[in-house]
Formats: sequence, C-alpha cells, structure tokens
Amino acid sequence: MPQSGKSQRIGAVKQITSHSNPIVKEIKGLVAQRKHRSQSGLFVAEGLKLATDALEAGWDVRYLALGPAGRDNPIAQKAAATAKARGALILEVSTAVMSAMTRKDNPQMVVGVYGQKLLSATEVDPKGSNLWVALDRIRDPGNLGTIIRTVDAVGGAGVMLVGDCTDPFAVEAVRATMGSLFHVPLARMTKDEFKALAEKWSGTVAATHLKGSVDYRTPDYKEPVLLVMGNEQKGMEDDMADACSTLIRIPQVGQADSLNLAVATGIALYEVRRKHLEL
Ligand code: SAM
Repeated sequence: MPQSGKSQRIGAVKQITSHSNPIVKEIKGLVAQRKHRSQSGLFVAEGLKLATDALEAGWDVRYLALGPAGRDNPIAQKAAATAKARGALILEVSTAVMSAMTRKDNPQMVVGVYGQKLLSATEVDPKGSNLWVALDRIRDPGNLGTIIRTVDAVGGAGVMLVGDCTDPFAVEAVRATMGSLFHVPLARMTKDEFKALAEKWSGTVAATHLKGSVDYRTPDYKEPVLLVMGNEQKGMEDDMADACSTLIRIPQVGQADSLNLAVATGIALYEVRRKHLEL
C-alpha cells in the first residue's frame, strides 16, 4: 500500500482515470478489508453530506475524490477547497473509477478518506448528564452505524466497543451512521477494562437483558448513565451483566424471541434521555 502521509501530498489536485492507479487501489483496499483500515488507520466515507460533516467536525481528511457531478457542485467544490487547504489530496476521477473504488454502480459524487479516531478506556470521562452506550461484541455493521446515529440523536456522549466488535470504520457501518460517526466519540476496550469502568461509574449502569426483571420504564436513571447492550446472537456475557447495577427488560407480547439490537437500543435510549428531549 502506498504511503498516505499528509506530508507527502499537501494541498494538491490530481486527475485519475486509470483503475490501476495506486491511490485507487489503496482506496479499494480500505473499502474491502479491515486489515487495510487497521494498518493504515484510515477509512472511507461516501457522499457529500459525510464529507461536509467530517470537515465541519475537524476530522483529518487525506483524500477527497470528486466524480464529474461533484466537480460541478458548488458545495462539493467548497468541501474540496477546505480539504485542500487542510493538506488533503483532491482526486478528480471518472465515474468508472468512482464506481470501482466504492464497488457501487451508482457511486456518490464525493468519496473521502479520513484518519480513524478511537479513544481508549482511560480516555472515557463520564460526567454530568453524560450518556454512554456500551456494546458487547456486536457483529453487524448496520446495527453499529444505526446505534451511533441514534446516540447522536439523543445527545449521547459516546459509544464503547467492548471485546471483538465489528469495525466502526467499515463502509457499511459508516454509511449507516449518516454522518453521526463524525460527531459521536468511540472508545474501544477489553471486557476487563469495561468492568473496571463500570465498577467506578458514579451513575446508573443499566444492562438491557432478556432475563431482566425491571421494566425499562421504571428506573430512576441516575446520571451519568451507562446503557449496556448485548451481542445479536448470544446476548450479554454473564460477567458483563454482573458488572451492571440493574438489568432492564423491554416488554414483548408477540412471538418474537427478542428485539433487533439497534431497535432495542433506540427504545431504551429514548426512555433514559426522556427528560432531555423535547420538540
Ligand atoms: N438470543 C439473544 C439473547 O438471548 O440475549 C438475543 C439477543 S438480542 C437480538 C440483542 C440485544 O438486544 C440483547 O442482548 C439486549 O441487549 C437487547 N434486547 C433485545 N430485546 C430486548 C428486550 N426485549 N429487552 C431487553 N433487551 C433486549
């Protein structure tokens, strides 16, 4: 993989028409493989809205690729000017190259490559009315992106990825966040680090659990709140549940065994944040 360091590509514009260009190959690798994302610390976000969100929130932008439609769009031109001023390489590419990079027949007019940001457990600083969501080994990138988007919508402080979670920087996860990825801090940690955090958490640590005996609408959630969600197939590990101060359950009456993880997270979040949310 070619070097992606900003120092090598300061504020330049480059035309690319060949699928075999090394930068095109690099972006394809970032889209296709977690290994490439982890090694480079970079990820791809598609679309003008996400580019605008990333730039407004001050994320480190390395490349901004513009297809023909992007080069004619004033907002995309402004995004490109901002990215270039911050040292990004602006790529002017054909529609075919844009399709190849993102593996989509109808590619977006703009595709950006950004530096990843992940906090460690020691950087999580719960205070005041903060709300954090912890996710136990979740596997589905669409669920993760949807949860990040919902945490953003309720004014949450961040999301903890506990154990072996799906990659928040996978294209499917990034797409599902609809830009909230750029506004919601993410922290990655081991289960032991989570348990240590939960132990000294000053507010309520509420696990949503199918064996919970507490209706999720009844607790007096003491802030800061930590809401803990289990894996899509296996639910939550017992020792993680033991680390929580209460096990809450969302009532169900039909034949479904459980709710979809992202749906359950959304329902619980809106209850926990009820007093902070008004039209
Ligand atoms: N078979 C899994 C189990 O036994 O836990 C189902 C997991 S469910 C699809 C994924 C997660 O969503 C659960 O671990 C829990 O955090 C949350 N969840 C889903 N439905 C829930 C409900 N009715 N009450 C509380 N939490 C629920």
